[in-house]
Amino acid sequence: MKITRKIFELEKKKINIPVFELTYKNCYKKMVKFCKESKKYIYDFDDTGNTVGLYCNYKKNHFIFIYKDITLKTKLWVLLHERGHYLCNKNKCSCLNKLQRHEEHATIFALKYLLNNNYDEALFDYIINMIALTLNAEESLHARAYSKIIKMKLWQKCCDYLDQNYKKEKLLNKGKNKDGK
Ligand SMILES: [Zn+2]
Ligand SMILES: [Zn+2]
Repeated sequence: MKITRKIFELEKKKINIPVFELTYKNCYKKMVKFCKESKKYIYDFDDTGNTVGLYCNYKKNHFIFIYKDITLKTKLWVLLHERGHYLCNKNKCSCLNKLQRHEEHATIFALKYLLNNNYDEALFDYIINMIALTLNAEESLHARAYSKIIKMKLWQKCCDYLDQNYKKEKLLNKGKNKDGK
């Protein structure tokens, strides 16, 4: 399944809690501040250290914020990752008292979801690259969580999925070329 704006909107609706996409950095920063004050929050960075998404639990209300000026691929990844944070919070998961585990769970949720919903290889290509970049960047909570995840069977599944889809695509293109000639 290819990621389009329509699909992204559908994924937003599935979560059943408010999801805000914020346009301006200032506005986004204000939200980060607000969530910090609420004390139950978790925010996520990309490999360059910019905040791209945030999950917040304020007086038993759950919110997700996503920075608007990022690509659709990043947005979907962030959305699913924040959804993972939300589900762990909602279900009072044992990971909540250990931040690294919390990050692991959110990422595992997002990867499983993408696999189960047959998202296209371009998305896996992006995620695998993004995780590699984070692992090579400075020491961080995400890097530590990812270093655990890349040792899991789930990670191998994602890599295999990417390989298989690339092979399929190549075969398809070969077929097309033959027909063309
Ligand atoms: Zn959890
Ligand atoms: Zn996170």
